Amino acid sequence: MSTAVEEAEKVAGSSDEVVAVKRPVDGETIRELPVADAAEVAATAARLRAAQGEWAELGFAGRREWLERLRDWMLAESERIADIMQAESGKVRADATLEVPYCADAINFYSANAAEFLADETPSAHFPALKVKRLRITRDPVGLVGVISPWNFPLILSLGDAIPALAAGNAVLIKPSELTPLCLMAVIEGWKQIGAPDVLDYVNGFGETGGALVDEADYVQFTGSDKTGRLVLKRAAETLTPVSLELGGKDPALVLRDANVERAANGVAFGGLMNSGQICMSIERVYVERPIYDEFLGKLTEKVEALRQGADGRTYTADVGAMTSPAQTDIVERHVTDAREKGARILTGGRRGDGPGDWYEPTVIADVDHSMDVMRDETFGPVISVMAVEDAEQAVELANDSRYGLSGSIFSGDVKAAERMARRLEMGSCNVNDTLINYNALELPMGGWKTSGIGTRHGRDGIRKFTRTRSILSPRGPELDSEILWYPITPAKRGFFAKVTRFFGGRGLGRFGIERRG
Ligand code: NAD
Repeated sequence: MSTAVEEAEKVAGSSDEVVAVKRPVDGETIRELPVADAAEVAATAARLRAAQGEWAELGFAGRREWLERLRDWMLAESERIADIMQAESGKVRADATLEVPYCADAINFYSANAAEFLADETPSAHFPALKVKRLRITRDPVGLVGVISPWNFPLILSLGDAIPALAAGNAVLIKPSELTPLCLMAVIEGWKQIGAPDVLDYVNGFGETGGALVDEADYVQFTGSDKTGRLVLKRAAETLTPVSLELGGKDPALVLRDANVERAANGVAFGGLMNSGQICMSIERVYVERPIYDEFLGKLTEKVEALRQGADGRTYTADVGAMTSPAQTDIVERHVTDAREKGARILTGGRRGDGPGDWYEPTVIADVDHSMDVMRDETFGPVISVMAVEDAEQAVELANDSRYGLSGSIFSGDVKAAERMARRLEMGSCNVNDTLINYNALELPMGGWKTSGIGTRHGRDGIRKFTRTRSILSPRGPELDSEILWYPITPAKRGFFAKVTRFFGGRGLGRFGIERRG
């Protein structure tokens, strides 16, 4: 009898389509890769699945060793990996060299904490009659995790999720973005070079390849647009496969009248323009209290005008890079044109580069309002739109007036008041007097409300979601021959049971020191 792997291999093959990877800084094609069709996805999934059992049996200590070897390999190769990433994404050096350190840190974080996050739990029973039982929760890996990733952080948003999934004992198959598959491919070559078990691989392609991966996976970790997220959720519904969706954002910054305006302008410039504004958590909307509006705009414009845009190789001499795709540049151009036509003021930038390649000038737009695309839809480019508000209340109201709810920032001289205000913002994460940095606090869950997603990454739940729980209930001590609820049912037994449940179900619980949680 042939194995699942052999069966899948019989029908495996690549389609005739290719993924043409381009260099955004000049538009040249740098590599063409075969597209994996559904059969190839199935074959690769079956191969990884076949190795997953042994990987799980290695135990966390064994798996940690392989992840730490990968970390060391990546750190040794980090300059080469950044070169590849720059070529396919158009990032400046400063942005491209952030991804390996994040992945190394994620390995260290889960190395230090995963044993605790995955350990059995033994809660004590809340119901007195169950005090004679031992309750235990165990966690098993789900099996094969499918990771579908976007192009803006080609390693952080692919390998970054694979790390906790692998640590939990799963095999992982990644479908990188068709725009930026090369640096992930290089890292997976590294996994193979260090001789690690065959539980991590990639398949290249477009939406159909991603869809085929949804069909094969036991859990889907998707990062991308909300439009595609909906398609993934629908497809996963066919097989009742659980999903985590990390989707788009339209992140606001609220700059209050007591803020350090210099810090706020620096923070917003970085939070809005890092990675050419191509970050789900980019600051795209800024609400500034009127008394400091002009001062803030002046400082922000001055800082943005001073930025250097270009391709800087390994030299760290540019601040803002290229756009990664012409399609995204089209969206940016459309949004800025819409704002201009509706009366907004472009204080700096506002023009697409002449080419070759894909460029858009770092841009500050003032006097925007919520009728404009730049304040409603995800721009995902180097554009910061600023609006005056009468007071902090209006800032909160406008910040919440969005279908997205990923993250945001509050700048204020009163940190406690800002923390209270953060609790009123409809978003998964909020930075006080900072931008973007919550992504590196791996203890904190990171995920979106509303159209920004379902589920979270990072922290305890960022690894637990890749497991299935099993609840085991067993006796703590000697047992009777029968139980009150077991047959035969008699009036005396059921009468006694009714009294007991009324007693424990009501105030009687208090007598046993069991408090109600409010
Ligand atoms: P996208 O949705 O176009 O594509 C994401 C991935 O899904 C790609 O690999 C693509 O090939 C694949 N895909 C496309 N159609 C598919 C289908 N029908 N089934 C399965 N897979 C399919 O997104 P993008 O343009 O690559 O990335 C930009 C988006 O990602 C932005 O909206 C951004 O906000 C979002 N994003 C979110 C986060 C987060 O953590 N919330 C992080 C980064 C980016």
